[in-house]
Amino acid sequence: MSAAFDIDRFRVKPDQDLDLATRDPQETPGWDPDDKSGAKGRVDVLNDRLEELQELLWAQGTERILVVLQAMDAGGKDGTIKHVFDGVNPSGVKVASFKKPSKEELAHDYLWRVHQQVPADGELVIFNRSHYEDVLVVRVENLVPPERWQRRYDHIRNFEQMLADEGTTIIKLFLHISKSEQQERLQERLDRPEKHWKFDPADLGPRSKWEQYQEAFQVALARTSTEAAPWYVVPANRKWFRNLVISEILVQTLEGLEMTFPEAPADIATMTIPD
Ligand code: AMP
Ligand code: MG
Repeated sequence: MSAAFDIDRFRVKPDQDLDLATRDPQETPGWDPDDKSGAKGRVDVLNDRLEELQELLWAQGTERILVVLQAMDAGGKDGTIKHVFDGVNPSGVKVASFKKPSKEELAHDYLWRVHQQVPADGELVIFNRSHYEDVLVVRVENLVPPERWQRRYDHIRNFEQMLADEGTTIIKLFLHISKSEQQERLQERLDRPEKHWKFDPADLGPRSKWEQYQEAFQVALARTSTEAAPWYVVPANRKWFRNLVISEILVQTLEGLEMTFPEAPADIATMTIPD
């Protein structure tokens, strides 16, 4: 399948001087902003291809895929999982959600709970939040002293490098929304009874520290985007464009692995199933 557009423009280059404020969450580079239905059609095609690639991943059973999703609240992590991964085989796909750490988790190092969830051979694992919370919310809310979280960028780089060296393909996605888009989405959760379950008054805390969170994201992305584990800044105000970009990134990355089905027995063409 040929690439519809250049996904590289969204990638944070290692050691790039990243300025999130100059990344427009509303933009749709490479696509006509009025062509929402065309984008949805393209996402359907990519989704079929992703299903095939995931079957291949599972059948071949040697590659491991880790997708990390991070965003501000209401940034679209759940919507991405629902739409982009629609139709993949649940046997080979897992979602790991990282909430506020439990007492037991807090009694260990911060990567302990994360390492347990990484993909095994043939698996695709989606992290809904991740170890990045340990340099995001932990940093902004002062949950540990600065000297502790400051060291974590290096730990994370090394941890991800180790996973990559051992055969894991890592894709990290920052769903970039604007503060006004977040307001609309949170307000919708209040206004629509069927969305009440999604509203968490605690989300207003991080919202009130928007700039500090953006700064924390900016530092984290700049310091941990590597060749082995690249970050992509996905313009996410328009959900259809977000889905398009992420589908492209996944399909192009998986195609790049050039996976093949395991070899069949040499005489398979002449075999028949006995009565
Ligand atoms: P949600 O994704 O809406 O279910 O919320 C999960 C909450 O857990 C968010 O407020 C996160 O910031 C919080 N969280 C996740 N990981 C950590 C962590 N390592 N330390 C503190 N809070 C965390
Ligand atoms: Mg929440």
